[in-house]
Amino acid sequence: MISFSLAQSKLKALCDSWIKDVGLESESRFLSESLGFYLSQDVCAKQNLPRENLSAMDGYALCFSDGSLQAKEHEIFTICGESRAGKPYLGKPLKANNCLRIMTGAVVPDWVDTVIIQENTQKIADNKISLLKQVSNGRNIRWLGEEIRQGQKLFDQYQPVTPNVVSVLASQGMDKVDAYRKLRIGFFATGDELRMAGESLASGEIYESNLSAIAALLQGLPVECTNLGVIKDSMDDIEQCLKQAAQQFDVVISSGGVSVGDYDFVKGCVESMGILEIYKVAIKPGKPLCFGVLGNEVPNSALFFGLPGNAVSSFVALTEFFMPAIRFLLGGRSSPQKLYLMATLDNGIQKSSGRMEFQRGILTSQVSPQGDISWHVSTLNQQQSHRVYGLARANCTVILAEDSGNIEAGNRVRVAPFPWCFNGMVL
Ligand code: AMP
Ligand code: MG
Repeated sequence: MISFSLAQSKLKALCDSWIKDVGLESESRFLSESLGFYLSQDVCAKQNLPRENLSAMDGYALCFSDGSLQAKEHEIFTICGESRAGKPYLGKPLKANNCLRIMTGAVVPDWVDTVIIQENTQKIADNKISLLKQVSNGRNIRWLGEEIRQGQKLFDQYQPVTPNVVSVLASQGMDKVDAYRKLRIGFFATGDELRMAGESLASGEIYESNLSAIAALLQGLPVECTNLGVIKDSMDDIEQCLKQAAQQFDVVISSGGVSVGDYDFVKGCVESMGILEIYKVAIKPGKPLCFGVLGNEVPNSALFFGLPGNAVSSFVALTEFFMPAIRFLLGGRSSPQKLYLMATLDNGIQKSSGRMEFQRGILTSQVSPQGDISWHVSTLNQQQSHRVYGLARANCTVILAEDSGNIEAGNRVRVAPFPWCFNGMVL
């Protein structure tokens, strides 16, 4: 048995060498269609931000022309012009005790050094204001380039394009970015007992559910998913499916047929087609994990990720083990990071040491009268790998270290919230 982290590094090494052979292709994408993609090169600023000196407030612009650092309370200024967003003041510089009416986002002329906010003034005539408060020089102006300097690096290669990144790129007038292309993923389930929704069930048959879960987990990523359906537990059928899939996809995911039963043909087929790495990994659920490469001819080779058949094992193996690899293949390197919390365990857990466990849990927050937030978690009673309903009732995974034994209530444990259960996050 190998540790989870060793299995992860073996998978990463396989992905690395596949990328070296096949290459991560880049493409120019419209910004509006690049959400969730990863930048394939650094992005530098095309222009200063702000591009010009701009007013930060609605108010009055003036110059302390006499060199003083302050304008005094009750001082009176005459309004001699206007600058508003999109319509700069183009007239001559104003004399002492004259000012411009100015609006937020309007260009501040070169000879102006201060904007007085409207709330600190009183209109005493149509074209005159009086200061209600002493005002110091240099206030309320957004200076040219104070936030971004033309040419500076804004984002590194491998940065995910997120809504806040889109906002900055758009403010630079960019409507396209260079990003890594979509990953083509094909996935299929194996099992003579599996039927699709709408079909009637004979004794021993069940509805197929892992393919829907795989599709749901991949949704929102820059992937082109193809559901290849259910393949019979037959060496020939599985081999044919894998051969075709290796030509069409970058990654092929299978569900079921990877353990030691008489009808578990997937491993044998992968092995005959290329490379198969198979490990007993010290995790629960999902102990037998396998992955490999289908075919030896670049670029017609595909990575293979084999999920176990049981619903929870399949879900955990994909989310905890293969999903980080998929992000890596998409160009994700260090972000988005997975969010972990330490929470107080509200129930005792029976666990034998030797395997890392991913248990389904319910995470809640408690807010003290002082406003401090503390996190509490309880694990669900039924943790077996086929208990699919427990998965749906949970809102987090409780991660228990390999060497930990029984854990008493009141201890602190590591928790990974399900992203779709908190803050409306998408995957
Ligand atoms: P296997 O890994 O093929 O031995 O399957 C382990 C268990 O998971 C068996 O009880 C299967 O019936 C069940 N199973 C396998 N694949 C699926 C699937 N796609 N949907 C639902 N259950 C499945
Ligand atoms: Mg099976």
